[in-house]
Amino acid sequence: MGRSCSNSDGCQRIAVLGATGSIGTQTLDVARRHPDLVKVVSLAVNSHVEKAVCLAREFGVGNLAIGDESRRDDPALAGLPAGCRVGFGPEAVRELAQLDGTDLVLNALMGAAGLEASYATLKAGKVLALANKESLVVGGDLIMPLATHETLLPVDSEHSAIYQCYLGENPAEAYRIWLTCSGGPFRGMTRDELAQVTAEQALAHPTWTMGPKITIDSSTLMNKGLEAIEAHHLFNVPVDKVKIVIQPQSCIHSMVEYVDGSIKAHLGAADMRIPIQFALSYPHRWETPCPRIDFATLGKLDFFEPDYETFRCLTLALDAGRTGGTMPCAMSAANEVAVAAFLAGRCRLTDIDAVVQTVMEAHRTAPVESIAQLEEVDAESRRAASAALLALG
Ligand code: MG
Repeated sequence: MGRSCSNSDGCQRIAVLGATGSIGTQTLDVARRHPDLVKVVSLAVNSHVEKAVCLAREFGVGNLAIGDESRRDDPALAGLPAGCRVGFGPEAVRELAQLDGTDLVLNALMGAAGLEASYATLKAGKVLALANKESLVVGGDLIMPLATHETLLPVDSEHSAIYQCYLGENPAEAYRIWLTCSGGPFRGMTRDELAQVTAEQALAHPTWTMGPKITIDSSTLMNKGLEAIEAHHLFNVPVDKVKIVIQPQSCIHSMVEYVDGSIKAHLGAADMRIPIQFALSYPHRWETPCPRIDFATLGKLDFFEPDYETFRCLTLALDAGRTGGTMPCAMSAANEVAVAAFLAGRCRLTDIDAVVQTVMEAHRTAPVESIAQLEEVDAESRRAASAALLALG
């Protein structure tokens, strides 16, 4: 089995949504290494027009979408290559996902815009390489019915690892998933110590190179809670069958344990270009310039239980995942607002979980029905989170 490219030359024609972010940049790096196997045909960015125009020229793309409509008159657009069409606004980003001549859409958009793009991609029958967390955390109930094993490839290192551990297996014979976690920069801290942490300290993540929002989420362990919800949707297992374990070396990227007690682990260097490339190369594997693990010098692998009392964001996210329906949407929106406030120096790191908890307690969960409904829950939860931040004083 395996998907086939629609092109006679065997080259994947890809759209990269969120092209100037951390994942987008590393995706383009993979494309540069494999020009015979990957052709970038479209790019979407939010507001980095100058960078986008540079990339459009480099890759000779035919379509560019700028999410921020206020950039229509950006002088940098004069530098677009001949024949490159440009559109503005969320509609233009969604359209890129549906264009003929695109085989795969790599969705590394930030936030809720990513959910609409994921939905459009799968509706259009394209392969979705997914790096946008909201698509599954918030919209898993809408996205998963459209997806198959062959059309939804996770890009996140943990989910790519789990996907690979499932290859050749009967999913019904899986006993549980071991979702690994670096522990973040504040592992071992007490609640009081955590309250004193600055944004600068939180942004100095030990292992992976990532954008600021996910870096803060990694430091509060919210990111791991979001990933548990994603794993629950992607692999159709209950949230409580996703067991989180801290693996500080970030060498084991996750594991799947089967009913007979056998455990398959996925190991590799902590370099996002490896899972990104797998999403593009599947069902094949290509050479990589990434560093390789040398077990002779690796030394040891450590494992710890997460501290659910100190890192309450993790506990809250798992609760939201168990509740399901619109609760993860409310939880995620509240977290986004609180993280932005922390980055702006307007609250403490430990206020993030306080805000999330307040919003979750006030939210009345309903089954997920539509993107429009989720947008309403998102907006309402953001208002509630802003009010909760004000109430902190
Ligand atoms: Mg991850």
